[in-house]
Amino acid sequence: MSQPIIQAILAPNPSIMTGAGTNTYIIAQSGATAGCFVVDTGCDSADHLQKLRQIAAAFGGVSAIIVTHAHPDHIGGAKEFSQLTGAPVWALDNSASGTPFAARVVRHKEQISVGSVSITIVAIPGHRFDHLGLWLPDSGDLLVGDVMSGSGSVIIIPPEGDMAKYLQTLRKLAALPIQRIFPGHGPVIEDPQARIAWYIEHRMQRENMIISALRSHGPSSAADLLPLVYNDTPKELWPAAELSLMAHLLKLKKEQRAHIVAELSGAVEYWALIHR
Ligand SMILES: [Zn+2]
Repeated sequence: MSQPIIQAILAPNPSIMTGAGTNTYIIAQSGATAGCFVVDTGCDSADHLQKLRQIAAAFGGVSAIIVTHAHPDHIGGAKEFSQLTGAPVWALDNSASGTPFAARVVRHKEQISVGSVSITIVAIPGHRFDHLGLWLPDSGDLLVGDVMSGSGSVIIIPPEGDMAKYLQTLRKLAALPIQRIFPGHGPVIEDPQARIAWYIEHRMQRENMIISALRSHGPSSAADLLPLVYNDTPKELWPAAELSLMAHLLKLKKEQRAHIVAELSGAVEYWALIHR
């Protein structure tokens, strides 16, 4: 069994949300020219796409361009790179709210391969409904897109993002014998089990903080809850944090643990706990 190559190439799209930028990954069989998969082109910078094409050429060219999910910092450049190389784009969803230009829709548990490297597509919804991961069972490597980050936590933006599904996904990942996680942003995660446990713990902590804030303050808007729940987070990240906070509230609503107080709510929604 030959080892896979998983090479990260940083896309030149740094921002407050992407950190240093998006990791584009090239997956290939080591020492072979059987083609390669290019995962998450990240942005349409001509320099970046040319660089990807050159690296791919050493492996025999691009077999397919795979997008983990349809956020702009992941599908960016995929269409242009497809035109440049002739390689098709593969995604979990090619509806208007997914990756509409994907030529092929891949399915959960579908097996794909490049050279002797076998990869299983895994549906890992939560960060976005159309999120896939790439699982390499022989090496224990997982490409996880934005389900996890090499640095800090990730944002969940409703309605494409769903906190309940996100936690289910993390718990499913915890059961896989993962050796290394390759995230969409930041460095490789070398302690996958500990990091997954931290992610679950971190989310449950936030949820518990929301519950105790609602308990002590009574009906509250997301803006009221923000300073109580995210006081450890830099203020410039609060607009993003408010979206994750809303995702938590919607999870509690789905679980019938919180509701929107109709008589208080107008343009702003006020949330309260449901006492049972
Ligand atoms: Zn994303």
